[in-house]
Amino acid sequence: MIVVMSQGASSDELENVKEHLSKRGLKVHMSEGIERTVVGVIGQIYPELQSELELMDGVGEVVRISKPYKLASKEFKSDDTVISIGEAGVKIGGGEFVVFGGPCAIESEEQVMETARAVKKSGATVLRGGAFKPRTSPYSFRGMAEDGLKLMDLARKETGLPLITEVMSERDVDLVAQYTDVLQVGARNMQNFALLDEVGRTTKPVMVKRGFSATYEDWLLAAEYVMAGGNKSVILCERGIRTFETFTRNTMDLNAIPVIKQLSHLPIVSDPSHGTGKWDYVTPLACASVAAGADGLIIEVHPRPETAWSDGAQSLTLENFDALMSKVRAIRSAMSDQP
Ligand code: PEP
Ligand code: MN
Repeated sequence: MIVVMSQGASSDELENVKEHLSKRGLKVHMSEGIERTVVGVIGQIYPELQSELELMDGVGEVVRISKPYKLASKEFKSDDTVISIGEAGVKIGGGEFVVFGGPCAIESEEQVMETARAVKKSGATVLRGGAFKPRTSPYSFRGMAEDGLKLMDLARKETGLPLITEVMSERDVDLVAQYTDVLQVGARNMQNFALLDEVGRTTKPVMVKRGFSATYEDWLLAAEYVMAGGNKSVILCERGIRTFETFTRNTMDLNAIPVIKQLSHLPIVSDPSHGTGKWDYVTPLACASVAAGADGLIIEVHPRPETAWSDGAQSLTLENFDALMSKVRAIRSAMSDQP
């Protein structure tokens, strides 16, 4: 349920509404929009509550939210959420576009520095890289853990690029949050509810990647976990889903972009690297995602993909990433000319 305060409502009237709700054991989430103040009500809502609230001074409208996810829904918050990343204050959402570029996994100082410098020069504004890698086989390279985070920190110090990296387990949240600017919850962990709860308690933005077989509702409910924990800075990431087609690693679900924009106020990023699994399809799907309205891209880049310790087949060379960025700029400018 949401309580939309009327335009001239006083702060006392708002306080009275909040007190009425908290006395009844209900949780209150505030959304101060440009036009209106909205009080989100979460908890055991009883039938009389709507009319009780409607009778209170300063209340404009009381609306029941029909979706199972509340805080993530457009019904709760109609303005797009704009998230600020790192000390650099890189913005995503509400028309602000971000490219996260970098290797799948951090392998060495040389590799991360070379990649960070190059992606920055090409126009990326956040550095990606994995230090804790979810691998299908336990015998594959599983990441450099804290040593990898330290190398990312070096790259941030030199380039000024904020960082995004995956946190795989609730026990690593504090450690990873010390280093990174955005916490990434991977596709395999999208329904790891203990992890979602834990990242929800941090103050760092969280990117929730879509699970292989998650519906839009499952995915938005995963975002809801993080938001219900108190962390409203959630970015969604479409990274392809499992379908009957096995020629590509996954199938990019481009439908997700306009659908999520309609259902939610949260920014949505596209990951055509994991979505296709093959580097030569990454640029076309990146372009299509931008045209479909994505708020950002996350792209795997490696100076020598043939030697990469993970996901080399889908990684762009530095040159190919530069070419992708030129195309993306052209599409963005064509889109902004549209009414
Ligand atoms: C990654 O970003 O490297 C990754 C493992 O992604 P996903 O969780 O989407 O597979
Ligand atoms: Mn990867």
